[in-house]
Amino acid sequence: MRPWGWFSIAFCIVFYLSEKSIAQTTIQRCATTSYDSLLKAKNPVYRKSRERFEEILRQYQTSGRSSRISANTLTIPVVVHVVHNNQNGIIGGINNSNISDDQIHEQIRVLNEDYRKKENTNGFNTNPVGADVNIQFVLASADPNGMVTNGIIRTYSSKPGFNPESEEDRHVLATISGWPTDRYLNIWVTTLSGNTIGYAQFPDGTGLAGLDAENGYEDSDGVFIHYGAFGVGPYVSSSIYDLGRTTTHEIGHWLGLLHTWGDTYCGTDYIDDTPVAASANNSSSLNCVSVYSNCTGTQTRNMTENYMDYSPDLCMNIFTQGQKDRIWLTLDLSPRRKKLVEYVQTENQLPESDKLTIRNSYPNPLSHDNRNLRLEVLLKGTQDITVDILNRLGGIVKTSQYPQIASSNIGIDLTTMAQGIYLVRVRTANEEKATKVVVY
Ligand SMILES: [Zn+2]
Repeated sequence: MRPWGWFSIAFCIVFYLSEKSIAQTTIQRCATTSYDSLLKAKNPVYRKSRERFEEILRQYQTSGRSSRISANTLTIPVVVHVVHNNQNGIIGGINNSNISDDQIHEQIRVLNEDYRKKENTNGFNTNPVGADVNIQFVLASADPNGMVTNGIIRTYSSKPGFNPESEEDRHVLATISGWPTDRYLNIWVTTLSGNTIGYAQFPDGTGLAGLDAENGYEDSDGVFIHYGAFGVGPYVSSSIYDLGRTTTHEIGHWLGLLHTWGDTYCGTDYIDDTPVAASANNSSSLNCVSVYSNCTGTQTRNMTENYMDYSPDLCMNIFTQGQKDRIWLTLDLSPRRKKLVEYVQTENQLPESDKLTIRNSYPNPLSHDNRNLRLEVLLKGTQDITVDILNRLGGIVKTSQYPQIASSNIGIDLTTMAQGIYLVRVRTANEEKATKVVVY
């Protein structure tokens, strides 16, 4: 039992090894309790406010009250801050903290597979309690000032690594590159020191004035991932945590979930449909063998396939209905998450459409002063889309790709375009729509 646990900040530590051949030697993946204890001892107001929030959340859970958010599916805008140590600015390649766009796009794809319970390639996801969490993630298309962005911000830092257990280091990262944490999910991808591959800040349980400003927690309220465990691809350097599930796991914390074993022997995660487990699954076996506990006098199988365990990425494939309910309650009750939901519902969320539709394109015409074209693209679910800009002769002068996005307000930078009439063509795998814009 660890009733204060989920208020804390979680961080997951492994002995991170950069070579695939030796990365089997996982010593420890998470050390939540030590940092949590530190924070509580340091700031009793912080501790009390989080305990109060947990109490409110548990009252909701036990009384069967559900989230008041009126949405079937929620799309959360993501900004990925790549804080790299590569002075020459080269993007991608082996042991390069300045990871490629492809690696980032692959991570977004994995998140949408995992949180929407889509077919995975690992042959799992057969447990009937597995839930579609109905949360989607899309790289932000507008920055905090409404300007066009691809949701990826690259910044060089001479600092070779950041310790996520250090409040100062997290603040430094957020200062180097950070967007409002009540409007975006901020993911910092960098070199994490101390053999750490992932870290997340739990939802704040208070809206008390002064608390965030005094303690600096608001600016770092996001997810921190070691660049070698982010996404999928040839330059992901862990052989165990190589399928993007470190980020799935950490966002689970950011959305209020605890570890399945409750961070203590036979502890609780306050979720009814995740079986009690004696401890974390620290196996590095890619055979995904069953692990058993005897916490209640009867032997039970641990849900090692749960994203909130420590299993190898290959062996993870499930959030439960109970975890989904807790996530949606958190989005409703935690002040900063609630603000994010309100933001995306009022300003950033476009409706789903059975047919691909360009609902609006503006400004049109585009003047010298503002050549940031915005497109309101509506589509069914999440799909890969491509936006082409064609000149009057039909030649493609610019192409942008947006993997696995939902209906979105997309920004296209037309700064380099000569004056003239252009065709803006939006394509999915099966559909195509176009509209004309004038640049003068
Ligand atoms: Zn964790």
